[in-house]
Amino acid sequence: MLSIDAERLLGRIRELGQIGRGSDGRLVRLAATDADKAGRDALVSWLRTAGLEVAVDRIGNIFGIWRTADNADEPPVLLGSHIDTVINAGIYDGCYGVLSGLEVIETLKAAGHAPARPIAVAAFTNEEGVRYAPDMMGSLVYAGGLPVEEALATVGSDETTLGAELERIGYKGSKEPGFLKPHAYVELHIEQGPVLEREGVPIGAVENLQGISWQRVTIKGEANHAGTTPMTMRRDAGHAAARVVTFLRDRARNANTPTVATVGCMSFEPNAINVIPSQATFTVDLRDPDEQRLQVEEAALAAYLKELAADEEVTISVERLARFEPVTFDRKIVELVEDAARRRGLASKRMTSGAGHDAQMIARIAPSAMIFVPSIGGISHNPREHTPDASAVAGANILLEVVSRLAAE
Ligand SMILES: [Zn+2]
Repeated sequence: MLSIDAERLLGRIRELGQIGRGSDGRLVRLAATDADKAGRDALVSWLRTAGLEVAVDRIGNIFGIWRTADNADEPPVLLGSHIDTVINAGIYDGCYGVLSGLEVIETLKAAGHAPARPIAVAAFTNEEGVRYAPDMMGSLVYAGGLPVEEALATVGSDETTLGAELERIGYKGSKEPGFLKPHAYVELHIEQGPVLEREGVPIGAVENLQGISWQRVTIKGEANHAGTTPMTMRRDAGHAAARVVTFLRDRARNANTPTVATVGCMSFEPNAINVIPSQATFTVDLRDPDEQRLQVEEAALAAYLKELAADEEVTISVERLARFEPVTFDRKIVELVEDAARRRGLASKRMTSGAGHDAQMIARIAPSAMIFVPSIGGISHNPREHTPDASAVAGANILLEVVSRLAAE
């Protein structure tokens, strides 16, 4: 049974994990920064060393393509993920999938494999969405869900423009996004949650992905003296915001459904110890694998905000930041993942992805699925993010197996 080169894969994961590490030891490789450029350069040199054709599209997505004279006209099997990171990141998120894709291609190539279709690996631009919103931007553009010009004009949290930054780092390519029409897409990723580790299952066959609703809520009340304004005469935007946090948490906890609700960002104005907040701004992240239920939750929040505005004598406005419907992955590929695990003597489990991934975008244009491996403690977006070497290698071997089957079709 053919297997990937474990040392080569693990070595590259560690090497890429050193790129963008500051003097404080923190790993930060935000999209289209100098650190991202350095990570991209390393990836491209590995793609070239592997003898792959390198292509970059207009949104900066990088592709390493393995074609032969016999299969060049066939739609490729596409693998991939992203190599941008969050602030103070771990080394696996995204990078593991991209480097495993490369590893799988190199392994098949070295083994003298002659696939019936090309195999390509992609690193999609700005999956994390930390510097430029929305997240999963490169794959969204690639799938035709956002015009490339609009994406390039996005102004970031640091007032830069994505298009100018891509140009500056030399990764504003010339290929039209969508130029490779995939026959299938498979993304290997760390789970970023605790389920596989807790249940002692090494492989997750991801069959669907939660829908995501992001909103920003602004509540306006009236600033006033914290000492002299009686409790009954306040229009306290801060308190109103706190009520929303509690409402969301209680509702999701009591519902006994997979709905999760989070307020992760909040700021007050004027933000002073002795002043009643005149304004509170916060984000709401709602997720559910069922579209119907996600809509019900959004409607419940809207109704509560209306009631709250009257009750607290504040005004409330809501801005939608992102909205993605739940995705059901391709059943046949999910079964291929389960079958590959069985053949390697590994247990697998069907699961729902709680996080957003590039696969949810590519699923719009090609049959897609994901493979998960355990994250120790369920920790991710954190320097303590960890997947044991044996698990990482096992996942890459499942990918190898699945890709060989898809490329033989
Ligand atoms: Zn990721």
